[in-house]
Amino acid sequence: MIVHRITDWIGTRKRFILPLLLAALLLTVFFSRQEGGRASGVADSVSGPKIIVLNYHKVDRMNHPLSIPPADFEHQMAFLAQNGYHTITPHELYMAFTDGGDLPTNPVLITFDDGYADNYTYAYPILKKYGLKGTIFVITSLLDKNYPGYLTWGQAAEMDASGVISIESHTVTHGSLTDLTDEQIRYELTEAKHSIEQRLGKEVEFLAYPTGAYNLHIASLVREAGYKGAFTVRNGNMDRATNLYAIERVPIFQTPDTFASFLERLKFVPLFEQIGWNKH
Ligand SMILES: [Zn+2]
Repeated sequence: MIVHRITDWIGTRKRFILPLLLAALLLTVFFSRQEGGRASGVADSVSGPKIIVLNYHKVDRMNHPLSIPPADFEHQMAFLAQNGYHTITPHELYMAFTDGGDLPTNPVLITFDDGYADNYTYAYPILKKYGLKGTIFVITSLLDKNYPGYLTWGQAAEMDASGVISIESHTVTHGSLTDLTDEQIRYELTEAKHSIEQRLGKEVEFLAYPTGAYNLHIASLVREAGYKGAFTVRNGNMDRATNLYAIERVPIFQTPDTFASFLERLKFVPLFEQIGWNKH
């Protein structure tokens, strides 16, 4: 009887309920894609502190969204250094996640994708000046070719040995891994890892997915190749509940007011987390 009443109730209101459900769905998708917002500043008691992973590409005077002018980059780094942020390396991140290693307060990873020569010319001295650490994900075939505008193996080795920069893998050719066969993916992953390890005499632990493209199968191949984690280009912050093979980052762009955009992105919290939904 009650069931019938409910069915009748829904039946008479179907033309209202369906559009409402659709609207709710659309709003959910819309808001899940929104960026920006303010950090709550409250760490989740289970997942631990938020770790911000900043994502840069070029640091030079090109008029391009992916290129941060050196003066702006310095302004950003000075802000981090003077406002209680502490940079960590991917290795420190891994130890904190797996070995109960300590994290400093306000932990930040400063990452650079692709390995442009300007990272050595501009970013490296600025990081050194402010006592900060960064990570550069390099494309090994370009290092091999002495490609113009690209880092050399000598520069990569110097930065890695200094302790200021960790050199990690961005594969051999930067091909989008979702477009490749398993055999090709394995080559991209293992060859880049071995190549950096041989040249720099260190263990390569992390990967940045070229173009950000990945899926669960690719993540399993990354793990199989011996990497301890991988960075995506999905927007978000990480905490102890994050899967190490799907680490989200916060991209930093050149905008009409690059520093204001930087501050806004530093405080980025996905909307669902702002309203208390946990993504995990
Ligand atoms: Zn890239």
